[in-house]
Amino acid sequence: MLSQMVRPTHQIGTSAPTKSSGATRRKSAALVAILAAAGMALTAASAIAAPRSKPNQIRYEYVSPKNPAHQAIHDQMKQGRALEHLQELLSPLRLPYPLTFKVAGCDGVANAFYDDEVITVCYELLAEFLKNAPNRDLPLGVTRADTILGPALDTFLHETGHAVFRMLQIPVLGREEDAADQFSAYIMLRLGKDEARGMILGAAYQYSLHVPEPQVAIPIEKFSDEHSLPAQRAFSMLCIAYGADKKLFADIVEKEFLPRKRADGCEIEYEDLTFAMTKLISPHIDKRLAKKFHEVWTRTVSARRARFNRP
Ligand SMILES: [Zn+2]
Repeated sequence: MLSQMVRPTHQIGTSAPTKSSGATRRKSAALVAILAAAGMALTAASAIAAPRSKPNQIRYEYVSPKNPAHQAIHDQMKQGRALEHLQELLSPLRLPYPLTFKVAGCDGVANAFYDDEVITVCYELLAEFLKNAPNRDLPLGVTRADTILGPALDTFLHETGHAVFRMLQIPVLGREEDAADQFSAYIMLRLGKDEARGMILGAAYQYSLHVPEPQVAIPIEKFSDEHSLPAQRAFSMLCIAYGADKKLFADIVEKEFLPRKRADGCEIEYEDLTFAMTKLISPHIDKRLAKKFHEVWTRTVSARRARFNRP
């Protein structure tokens, strides 16, 4: 409809005589009026098409499990108000539509996904985290609870990354799966210091850093996956954390959970992530709510790294 109004205007404009007569001027004035009206119609249409983004858009649902074996997970999550805490953490996000977090049974498949403004984390996946959790606490002060809650939180935040990129039409350079991992690590670093450390180390544990063998044999097709390999995801998460606070995470390098070679560049990796989050996501964050629910203890990187500046 709009293109029909604009096209004839363009044709008349290009064929207009160079020396303008009174009639042409009147015609031009009429065209300006039509264009202005078209512009207004466009503004009105886009106002209807795109609802205004606002904070407090997170909803949640603890779906009753179909498999009785998952009832305990459902009850513990509900009792611990897990999804309510997640709702608080993400309440500063300004979104155009509500985003619903669900824990639900997935007919035996251990998975998590985002679809149609709903993030579903399957009880089957949470059961796997429980099964893989160690029976005792680990070195670096990582508790059994960290190794369950950390990956659960990471899973929700990773899916939130996908949701945010799509709902806010955030451009993603590189693989979206890696970007979603980075989004998750960044949000985890907005928790309190101790909690963030526990969640990150717990999530890294579940990403198979606990595999004791330094050499692994992997089928070649694993490298074709859209996600990075689990160990790579663990190293990247630890790198972002170390880059954010070298003191808090010093022991992961000292005890060689994160190789020194990678660690040396983590400050820059964290700055890159912070730069992207500040440019792309911060405009969609409600500052008042962020002050209430996010803690600020990591390095803040306000400008692009100095090495990119001209001398
Ligand atoms: Zn993903």
